[in-house]
Amino acid sequence: MSNLPLNSVEDRLYVLRTRWEQYVAEGRFEQFIEFAVAVNSLAEHFNRLRLSGLVRLCEGLENAALTRLGDSTTHPLGEQEVAALQRQLDTLLGSVSTSRPPAPERRTDEAPVAIADIDWIKPRSVWLVAPTEKREMADALARQLQYFGFSVCDTPWSGELPRGDMPLAVIFVPAGEDTRPAEFAFIGTVRAACPASQLFYLGARSAIDPIVALMRAGIDVSIPAEEQTATVLNRMLDLVQISEQEKYRVLVVEDSRVAVALIQRTLAEHGIDSHAIGDPATLLDALETYRPDLILMDMYMPHFNGVEATRVLRQMGDYAALPIVYLSGESDVGMQVEALRLGGDQFLIKPFNPVLLAAVVKTKIERFRETQRSTRLDGLTGLLNHTAAKSRLQTMVSQLPAHAALTVAMIDIDHFKAINDTYGHPVGDQVIRGLAWLLKGRLRSSDLIGRYGGEEFLIALPGVTPEQARQVIDRIRSDFAALPHAHPGGALYATFSSGIASYPLVNTAPALTEAADGALLQAKRLGRNRVERAILQ
Ligand code: GH3
Ligand code: MG
Ligand code: MG
Ligand code: MG
Repeated sequence: MSNLPLNSVEDRLYVLRTRWEQYVAEGRFEQFIEFAVAVNSLAEHFNRLRLSGLVRLCEGLENAALTRLGDSTTHPLGEQEVAALQRQLDTLLGSVSTSRPPAPERRTDEAPVAIADIDWIKPRSVWLVAPTEKREMADALARQLQYFGFSVCDTPWSGELPRGDMPLAVIFVPAGEDTRPAEFAFIGTVRAACPASQLFYLGARSAIDPIVALMRAGIDVSIPAEEQTATVLNRMLDLVQISEQEKYRVLVVEDSRVAVALIQRTLAEHGIDSHAIGDPATLLDALETYRPDLILMDMYMPHFNGVEATRVLRQMGDYAALPIVYLSGESDVGMQVEALRLGGDQFLIKPFNPVLLAAVVKTKIERFRETQRSTRLDGLTGLLNHTAAKSRLQTMVSQLPAHAALTVAMIDIDHFKAINDTYGHPVGDQVIRGLAWLLKGRLRSSDLIGRYGGEEFLIALPGVTPEQARQVIDRIRSDFAALPHAHPGGALYATFSSGIASYPLVNTAPALTEAADGALLQAKRLGRNRVERAILQ
């Protein structure tokens, strides 16, 4: 079996099919475990891509497999059980292939073209399912979505579904306060037809019962009536923005080579990167150079034991929050409790169940990364905050090849004080969010977008010349000027000014921001609502 990291849906599907075929052919317990691991790995991957319907199908299959896991004496499974699993697997594979973007046309003698995972979430069409009595509200929402670059397809609450590509999302607007049986049924139909789409329900009552019922019918996100448009837009833009995350990194501190090999194999099968050290005396160096998201710590090792090593780390600011999971043959509950009390996050017993190990490692890392993220992102807009934007720009500039292009833009909303003074601070906030989302919707995921100050944004576009950047930003400028911002008395319009400066003519991050700031000042002087290039550029 190979330990190659799995990078895409295609890789995982291949592994899943192969594992199942091997099990069907030979019927060994270990093969069944590997099949279960492969299902879990596919589920996790779909989850990262937010393909929620496919996650559900994988989880159904995973549960079916786990209930039949048993031990080496219960395998091979009986014919009927194998057939039941086969049916579930076929349903899953069928749904995957209907949700997959069409492969590019090719001659039959050419090698198959791999479909990048990003293509799974690229479509920008949205189905809007609304009754006639909610037409006005639905039209307003459709207009907003169109401003942010989505194509909206009006869909009735019954009958045929639109043809063509699967939508990125389906938004349901119900007729009344309570969901009707026919509405539930229609949601179920859409869920089955569009396993890779996100399903939103607008106007849910804020109570747990109706939301659970909607969830069971297939809704991913229930949005209460009062939030509506703003929330839908933000969620939708987040969907488009998903980019493959950096791989998870686990540091394995373990003196047994056999245990290391087993652990690393399990982690690799789940696409998790790992590095192992056999002696905890080298722990600090390894942390410094490898920067793990989690430590898997053995209990008994030469020099120090795992609990002592953990206590040391908990005293150091940099590692106080790093998740530490013990993996040990220790089955004494008293010892386990003591180990947790002294700074560990979880205790797993060897020999370990690979599905459980991978699940524990991933959920701990997800939480850890989530808290790390919240210190880097701005709460109002979800963009990088001032500090994070500055440091990201620094990194981008330091990694640029000598002749590469990079353009930095500073954007500042015009007469923003007047907007606040006239319409109030909350409306001002909405204008800031509108611009943030427009930028998110229009720029690439490789671009930097940061909220640099109150109504000021820092942007960096790698590989883009000053003239190209001027055109891109100017287009966003004119679209922003046309974007209506709702306020209690109607709609208001705002504009921004921008200054741009480019690498390599200006060649450090601070000098780039300063030059862009200078050009922004010039844009303001020249009358606002315009984009200016820094002098000499
Ligand atoms: P100019 O065209 O010259 O940029 O005029 P301006 O009024 O936008 O200029 P200035 O930079 O002086 O004003 C920015 C205002 O933005 C001041 C501050 O009260 C307001 N502001 C800063 N942060 C926020 C925020 O998070 N929300 C809201 N609503 N207002 C903010
Ligand atoms: Mg040991
Ligand atoms: Mg300002
Ligand atoms: Mg301003």
